[in-house]
Amino acid sequence: MPLVKECVFCKIIRGEIPCCKVYEDDLILAFLDIAPFNIGHTVIIPKDHQNSITTLDEIYANRIIKMAPKIGVALMRTINAEGFNLFLNNGSVAGQTVWHCHMHVLPRFAGDKVVISSEPMKYDSMDQMAELAGKLFNKLNA
Ligand code: AMP
Ligand code: ZN
Repeated sequence: MPLVKECVFCKIIRGEIPCCKVYEDDLILAFLDIAPFNIGHTVIIPKDHQNSITTLDEIYANRIIKMAPKIGVALMRTINAEGFNLFLNNGSVAGQTVWHCHMHVLPRFAGDKVVISSEPMKYDSMDQMAELAGKLFNKLNA
């Protein structure tokens, strides 16, 4: 994982490499993705180098989640997107390739070529499902 010095998104924040900026404030920066899934695909990054959303201070996370729908609406109004996906890949197994956490805003158009699909799985039983929910609930509500 790259240090702040070599991180491509930190370089963008410092103005060492260019980006097509769509929004900036004291905490976050948003710019067009260089390899978009659809025209207008935007990434929002915190101005703090954290590999993972799990260590990102909530002041940054809150600002990202506040701005994401506003950027989505701006994309709808500007390029006539009909909706948008918000997603965040956390960890290489989840598809993360840039180790400075970021949220994607992906504008969607009827009939576009974007594929987000997976075969649904099944729990063995309702008991198995309830047991897992219980374990998670106990951790999250402790
Ligand atoms: P992820 O796979 O979730 O880590 O997403 C990283 C995203 O950053 C990819 O969609 C890349 O296309 C995008 N990206 C990487 N370098 C740049 C760059 N210099 N400018 C804009 N987007 C970039
Ligand atoms: Zn960084």
